Amino acid sequence: MHNLRFTYYPEKTLRMKASPVDFDGEPPEDLLNLIEQMKDVCREKEGAGLSAQQVGLVLPVMVCGVPRGGGRYDLVGVINPKIIDESDDTLIREEGCLSFPGLYFPVERPRKIVAEGWFDDVKRRDKRELVGMAARIFCHENDHINGILFIDRADKITRERIKPQLKKIAQETMNRK
Ligand SMILES: [Zn+2]
Repeated sequence: MHNLRFTYYPEKTLRMKASPVDFDGEPPEDLLNLIEQMKDVCREKEGAGLSAQQVGLVLPVMVCGVPRGGGRYDLVGVINPKIIDESDDTLIREEGCLSFPGLYFPVERPRKIVAEGWFDDVKRRDKRELVGMAARIFCHENDHINGILFIDRADKITRERIKPQLKKIAQETMNRK
């Protein structure tokens, strides 16, 4: 079992980029266990996705919500995620992040992507086309794996507008320690 500790903005782990893990066939047992633990955390916090950085580990592991309608998600674990293609057309939608409690703002993301990685629903390396919300969630979690946060994707006006909220979140993080 991994000792998971939830990380909040502006903790340093959120800015660390994970390197791919090398394996043939079946991934290491500890990563499979981590995926299950992360799914539990994600459900508990009612998130649409979660990256290892958000539970204090710098690893290329994430769980992504696959929308099932009515605000429900199935969670799929991905190891070594990668985006190999993305559409030129984009969508702007409100986005949140479990590491930034209460913060939501519009983020522009590609409407469609081709995602690659080891997927735990098929238990092998796979390449799949994701559209809309599913693409958005994959992009958001894949950013985490690379140390990129959704605030980096905010436009200039939004960045200015959310400054007080970011300050408040940073203060709450300090108080948690
Ligand atoms: Zn996030």
